[in-house]
Amino acid sequence: MKTLVIEIHSLNRFQITKQDTPFLYDLTKKYGLGKARPCFAYDIQTCFWTGTYPEKNNHFAKYEYHKNYDKFHFIDLFPNKLRNISYNLWKYLGGDDFFTNLCSRKYTHHFKIARRFHFFHKKVFEVPTLFDILRKNNKKFLYYQWPTVATNNGWKLKIFPRLDDIMISKKFIKLVKKNNNLDFYFLQLRDLDIVAHKYGPYSEQAKKKLRIIDQLLKDILNNFSLEKDNILIFSYFGMVPVKGKINIKEVLPQFRKGYYYFLDSTEARFWFFNSKIKKQVINILKKIKEGHLLTKKEKINYHVNFRDNRHFEELFLLKPGYIISPDFFHKRPIKGAHSYGLKCEEEQGIFLINKKSKKEAELVDMMPTLLDFYKIKTKSDGSSILLI
Ligand SMILES: [Zn+2]
Repeated sequence: MKTLVIEIHSLNRFQITKQDTPFLYDLTKKYGLGKARPCFAYDIQTCFWTGTYPEKNNHFAKYEYHKNYDKFHFIDLFPNKLRNISYNLWKYLGGDDFFTNLCSRKYTHHFKIARRFHFFHKKVFEVPTLFDILRKNNKKFLYYQWPTVATNNGWKLKIFPRLDDIMISKKFIKLVKKNNNLDFYFLQLRDLDIVAHKYGPYSEQAKKKLRIIDQLLKDILNNFSLEKDNILIFSYFGMVPVKGKINIKEVLPQFRKGYYYFLDSTEARFWFFNSKIKKQVINILKKIKEGHLLTKKEKINYHVNFRDNRHFEELFLLKPGYIISPDFFHKRPIKGAHSYGLKCEEEQGIFLINKKSKKEAELVDMMPTLLDFYKIKTKSDGSSILLI
């Protein structure tokens, strides 16, 4: 039994319209459009692939703090344009396969990249991934997330040229035709996320991408059967248009003077080594009306009450639509953002399943749902939403 999973990165329910995504729109009329509550995490994909909350998979953002990690990286000597590629190449030669955008040069040596490997590798986390379980049950998979193509037999890297969704889909269809007898196929389409961050989720540029993606979905699904196969089209989370920015760096005391911070775009994470500074910083943060410090209750409700402080000690979260600018990745403000906690409608992920299922779910329900197609039971934080 074949299962096809396509992730359309950052697609929210308001972007699915008769005009921009007619094919997907018709599918939602036939099967219903599901709403998936994301997890509160920056590297949210981990929650999908493990079916667990951040607290259990012990993963939160791209970068994490480790005591005694203040290492100098020779890569920081490279000019900015070459830094990313040199760093990733260096990591690749050292055995890592997970490519990431480096944060700003000044801060690289205080924080560590949290995840080094793709999900399809064996035992990447303390908890099993979907791939660990598929392998254990002798199910064969194909995973394609540019630039990585992986099957049970190994993985290949195709970095050049930088493929777009059109090229990626064409390649995926070729791979599917060549590997026609597998159990599980995964494809990620990422162009919408890139464009929506740059121009906003409802911009003309995003709409243009949506029309392309819609046609690509049609082309890909032509190679599968909506009647016989299991199809899941989903997004880990949606995107929110940006309406205001805060220059948090400007109002905070000097970085490293008794504390560290990491500025992701919708939140600032803090680690303190001096109680006087902590008091001072917290008083400053309390005056910023566009955000708030996460309370203990919220940490528990969001499942981010971590056992140690590697992810953060205190977290300042902005209200939906606001961003920290500049942050550690962007000098200029972005026009679309995600990771605002769990109450924002535009940030809810979407899902479409061609089987009878509940229409409201959590992201952590997706892994048990996919395994339920094969009647495989698993221990996770979620549960299957299939109604068959
Ligand atoms: Zn994004």
